Amino acid sequence: MSDNKTEQKPVIRIENLHKYFGDNQVLRGIDLEVMPGEKVVVLGPSGSGKSTMLRCINALEETTSGKIYVNDVDITSPKTDINKVREHLGMVFQRFNLWPHKTVLENVALAPKLVSGVNKAEAEKKAMEMLKRVGLAEKANAYPASLSGGQQQRVAIARGLAMGPKALLFDEPTSALDPISTSKIEELALELKKDYTIIIVTHSMQQAKRISNKTAFFLLGEIIEFDKTEKLFSNPCDERTDAYINGRFG
Ligand code: ADP
Ligand code: MG
Repeated sequence: MSDNKTEQKPVIRIENLHKYFGDNQVLRGIDLEVMPGEKVVVLGPSGSGKSTMLRCINALEETTSGKIYVNDVDITSPKTDINKVREHLGMVFQRFNLWPHKTVLENVALAPKLVSGVNKAEAEKKAMEMLKRVGLAEKANAYPASLSGGQQQRVAIARGLAMGPKALLFDEPTSALDPISTSKIEELALELKKDYTIIIVTHSMQQAKRISNKTAFFLLGEIIEFDKTEKLFSNPCDERTDAYINGRFG
């Protein structure tokens, strides 16, 4: 075998992932590979298992069977230190999940302090840099409740960036936001996509086309089609993808 140093390995690799909640089979054999620098949109109707898949990648949810590798580390192995894996992943949820009794700066600095054991001064310095990056440095000492939804989501993104992750996982980051806040988050995502590998779950096809280079169409716990975004939207292989993207889904 040749020793090719430029050969890239996937940041995230999912193999035959199955997930049950009781009798409810939510993921039915998911395979997905996300290479460094790729921007993948996951599109599909509600209840298809998109959030569950993202939560499995971050080990927020236990898998029933199958493998998930993050930077080649098998996160389904009981031997794996999940906190170490999570340092490589920044997760942003639909509901921002900020701590209400902590300031914006404290919210962003918390994970590096708890998970990586970074000291307070260093964690806050990094947090401040990330707040600048999302355009909210002036809100560092404010409490989340005094911010708009869009601003809270930008804080949540800063928090996701604070660990210095390789990949960002967004779960419908704009579905609780008004159109103006949504476009601000999209602009931020477009700016971040230069530096990060991204997986973003969204209902917005506009967002998929703007942000991603690849799209996975998810339906009832399966990935029906995974292709370059342009190709999937212009010439889908599966008639269910075609029906969904052209609004004929029923
Ligand atoms: P999506 O994000 O595509 O809308 P989800 O992953 O949220 O889909 O949900 C897929 C299915 O899994 C749904 O039927 C939902 O009710 C079920 N589900 C999700 N989380 C849980 C849970 N913690 N316990 C039981 N069922 C769940
Ligand atoms: Mg969801």
